[in-house]
Amino acid sequence: MVKPALPAGCTSHVGGLYHGHWAGARRYGGLRGDPARQPGKTFKGLTDAILMEQTEWLQRAGRRLEMSELATMRTDVVGSLLRPERLKQARRRFEAGDVDAAGLRQVEDEEIRAAVALQESLGLGVVTDGEFRRLNFQDSFGACVEGFRSGAARMEILERQSHGGTALRRWDVQRDVNPQVPVWHRLPAVERLRLARNLPLEEYRYLGTVTHTPAKVALVGPDRISQRFDYENSRDIYPTVEDFLDDVVAIEKAMVTGLVEAGCRYIQIDAPGYTAYVDEPSLQAMRQRGEDPDVNLERSIAADNRILDAFGEAVSGIHLCRGNQRSMWHREGSYDAVAERLFAGLKHRRLLLEYDTERAGGFEPLRFVRKGTVVVLGLVSTKVPELESVDDLKRRIDDAARFLPLEQLAISPQCGFSSDAVGNLITPDDQKRKLERVVETARQVWGQA
Ligand SMILES: [Zn+2]
Repeated sequence: MVKPALPAGCTSHVGGLYHGHWAGARRYGGLRGDPARQPGKTFKGLTDAILMEQTEWLQRAGRRLEMSELATMRTDVVGSLLRPERLKQARRRFEAGDVDAAGLRQVEDEEIRAAVALQESLGLGVVTDGEFRRLNFQDSFGACVEGFRSGAARMEILERQSHGGTALRRWDVQRDVNPQVPVWHRLPAVERLRLARNLPLEEYRYLGTVTHTPAKVALVGPDRISQRFDYENSRDIYPTVEDFLDDVVAIEKAMVTGLVEAGCRYIQIDAPGYTAYVDEPSLQAMRQRGEDPDVNLERSIAADNRILDAFGEAVSGIHLCRGNQRSMWHREGSYDAVAERLFAGLKHRRLLLEYDTERAGGFEPLRFVRKGTVVVLGLVSTKVPELESVDDLKRRIDDAARFLPLEQLAISPQCGFSSDAVGNLITPDDQKRKLERVVETARQVWGQA
């Protein structure tokens, strides 16, 4: 395969950049499919316009060519962005039958392009599609599998679930909201789970064509899925939770494989359920069901690591937080009690950890992080409009560096801005300023974003 000449200092064609390159080529109609998997294809069809685009793009993002650089980039975003009002309206009209699926998709496409353009303009090292095609971050599994007894997901369910809540308070989920939706609610299985659609892959297939910046897609992981599984009423299908998790892992490996084959080079597992093991009400709920939290924790870490087999060269991230719904939170407690098992046990390349308030505790647990793993410090709140100062953020990074070397640290918001379509109680301008602050701080601390 003939490769284009690289600018000085660029040594490789791997990574999301590589994929973006071909996505750009496809946009101009010069090539079909992914030539990386079609040995012998040449650049015969490339136009001057494409070559010019390649050069600009390689120069702009050349430092991110190596996978190791993608794994150690100093900025990150957890995933979701505030849904624009126009997108929410389109969703409501779709649910009312006034807009068809194609009409909704067109609005999603347009708003995703705008969200990507915003992230690129700010200089973030990685972009997402804001999860604009999801009602809730957990749709990466719940909307993709069949086998649960469930009803249709609708935005009004999310609105009713968080109705009456107060910002920065514990969110006590309205459990009696119907219809019930997989992973949003604790549901039984009525048959063995099977993958019906790979929504994250559909998301990436569009996202990869509208950006030259490495694009990340997130999937909710086995721990959360197992915590939202009514195993007591599923024994005919899954005699044990281990049997259930075997199917979850197989399905998620298939989803990751699809993403990697499509060129995605950074995949994040969303694992907010791990903080249940330090939150007393959550621990009580497990014990009341007769579960041993230690057994749950070990089983979940093992399941998360099994999925890593499917990542190949793609960078693996895993995000932990304490809940994020309409500026409310769901759990509290420092990482200390589980840090040794969790931080030393998870074999992901990047740990994205909530660290914006005292609910997350101190940085001491970072001493258990594996060598070579980068901890992305979630220091910037997505729940309140107040903007963190660069000096305060730098002080906190210095503090963290007492327990983990600076070259193993990075910075991001503490969670998404909109874990579901309702979103947090801040404005799009607040969101933009928060993301700007992440980039500004990274440039001052590490000299790059
Ligand atoms: Zn989160």
